[in-house]
Formats: sequence, C-alpha cells, structure tokens
Amino acid sequence: MIVDIVTLFPEMFDGPLDESIVKRARQQGLVDIRLHDLREWTRDKHRKADDEMFGGGAGLVMKAEPLFHCHDELVARARAHSPQASKPLVVLTSPQGAKLEQAQARRMAAEVEHLIVVCGHYKGVDERFIDACVDRELSIGDYVLSGGELPAMVLVDALVRLLPGALGNAESADTDSLEDGLLEAPVYTRPAEFRGMAVPEVLLSGHHARIEAWRAAQRLERTRRKRPDLLEMKSRNEG
Ligand code: SAH
Repeated sequence: MIVDIVTLFPEMFDGPLDESIVKRARQQGLVDIRLHDLREWTRDKHRKADDEMFGGGAGLVMKAEPLFHCHDELVARARAHSPQASKPLVVLTSPQGAKLEQAQARRMAAEVEHLIVVCGHYKGVDERFIDACVDRELSIGDYVLSGGELPAMVLVDALVRLLPGALGNAESADTDSLEDGLLEAPVYTRPAEFRGMAVPEVLLSGHHARIEAWRAAQRLERTRRKRPDLLEMKSRNEG
C-alpha cells in the first residue's frame, strides 16, 4: 500500500508512524508512507497555503491552488509509475465525513492500493477542492479537532495493522473487538493471582473447547453491558 499524506504540519507525524507495528510494516515494505508539505505546492513568494474566508467570519481556509497542484502531481506520479493501477483514493479527514469503522478499515486495507490522505486545518479546505478531487470524507468521531493530522495517523494505523504480514504471531487482529460486531473477551497474563484477584479458572484449565465457550459467552455479555448499540446493529444486519 502507498499512502501519501498531505499536510501543513509534516513534523507532527514524526514518532507515531515510526514505532511498533507501523514501523515494522514500513521496514518490511508492506506500506510506503510519504509526507508532503502543502507549502511546497504554493506558487506565491510568501508560500501562502491559507487565507481568509469569503463572506466574512473568523478562521482561515486552506487555499484551493496548492491543494489542486499537490493532488494533480501525486496522481500524475502514480499514473507514471504504474499506468495500469487504478487512480489513488483521495480521502479528506473531516468531522463531516462518515465515521471510520472497523468493517470499512478492513475493506480499505484489502482493496486500496494507493491512498492520498489530505489533512485539513483551521476552518477546513476550500470546498472546490472537495468537489473536484476528494473521493471520500472520513471522520474519526463526532468531535472537532484542530487538524486532520491526528485523524490521518489514526486512519493509517487502523489500515496498516490489517495488511497481511503486519501483525506477528504475538499480535492478532481477528479476535479484536469490533471485528465481528462484538467486543473482545477479557484477557489476562501472569501471575495467575495478584493482590487476591484470581484469573478465571477456566483460562488455566487447558481445556480448549471450554475456553472458547467461555470467551464466546463473555463477548456477548460484555457487548450487551458496554455497547448494547453494537448488538442492535448486529441483529439488524443479520436479520
Ligand atoms: N470548520 C470545520 C472543522 C474544521 S476542524 C467544520 O465545521 O467542518 C480542522 C480540520 O481538522 C478539518 O478540516 C479536518 O481535516 C480535521 N478534523 C477535525 N475534526 C475531525 C474529525 N472528527 N475527524 C476527522 N478530521 C477532523
């Protein structure tokens, strides 16, 4: 997977994408993450990437020209590099987008070969860029952040860990919460007893079928208790 990230603040990405699973996936060549400083696509001498809003009001808007220039160039490079490949998917991080969910992350990880993620900032981006270039607006939840950089990191992390080979034996994705619309069962590690609190006996039994049955029951019970909305959605989808 190739991920081009377009941002006014490329330094914000130092760190989060250089550790743990994402770092290893990059080293293994499963994902190529490239950062693009939007200011480099400005063509005026002040390198102005944002400006005041038409119609008045507080807050700056990211200008259309550098966004279009950057977009066009990234798409042209992708085409030159692999003429047969489909056009990169252009995602804008936005609180107005559909909320990112695990099923969609799965689909994107399986299907998208090249992603361009545009990070808004301030008041957001000139609407003409959205109309002309953006395939999908994605939100990471119903709250407003100062910029699309954290959402872009969230999206990249959610996708990269699902790429085949990204998770080692020590990690696993398929029993994670939300993978099949339920939460994961509780997990424990050594010691078997700590401050008088014992690990559920069944987990120490070595009896595989009993453990599986216990986990299945726990998943249902805790989903009912913590996220009843998920159960309603699951039964709607399955019914
Ligand atoms: N005025 C805009 C919000 C701007 S917030 C509006 O009302 O729609 C600044 C930028 O942060 C946005 O352009 C977007 O890229 C990012 N952002 C903020 N909250 C977000 C969220 N919940 N999910 C994804 N991106 C978000």
